[in-house]
Amino acid sequence: MRCARCDRLAIPQAVGHLPNGLVVFGWCLDCLEETGCSEIEAVGRRTTRRGNSCVLTLEPPPPPLMIAPTDRRRLLLGVATLLGSWSIVLIAVGIWTIRQPAPPNPSPLGNGRPTLFLVGGMATAVTALLLLCLSQGRELVRSRLACWWVQSGAFLLALAILVAGIVYHDPRRDPFVVVAAALAIGLSIAAHWQERRLPAVKSRADVISQDWVQRH
Ligand SMILES: [Zn+2]
Repeated sequence: MRCARCDRLAIPQAVGHLPNGLVVFGWCLDCLEETGCSEIEAVGRRTTRRGNSCVLTLEPPPPPLMIAPTDRRRLLLGVATLLGSWSIVLIAVGIWTIRQPAPPNPSPLGNGRPTLFLVGGMATAVTALLLLCLSQGRELVRSRLACWWVQSGAFLLALAILVAGIVYHDPRRDPFVVVAAALAIGLSIAAHWQERRLPAVKSRADVISQDWVQRH
């Protein structure tokens, strides 16, 4: 049997309930899902008098119970946001001071030097990331989107560090540039591995089709 809406094969045959309450028959599972049907009844071959129909729901499963207290997470998230903003300020000041001529008598502790701002800014950014991971916990580590963002962000950061190191070349800065770029690339690779370890996202129509095949 073919779908009355898109003319592809409509197997298994199914009945769906549209959001406005109408009952739809003769559409494939993809069309039923596309039109926002909240409940789908897949009908099997009627080999027995009773028939073997099963009701499958398209509602997402209920979210797992939150174990971590929300207040603690909010506090960590707030501190992480503050530290993240501060790290951006530090890195921006560091980049700005790179373009300024060096002071005639530089402080032996490196006060006001770009390296100090850049290293401090990156350390603050890493702390903010750690706090973010603590506040969002396993959901963040399991999110493909978060992995993708960390992967791309760290890679771009490494690229920016290398380009800045080449454009504003200073032999004394080389070790810092190499270490910072290596750390960023390492973070990017770690995020890539984590993303590959995550299970592939399945569409709900796939899940229902597999379920139907198993039952028949
Ligand atoms: Zn269809």
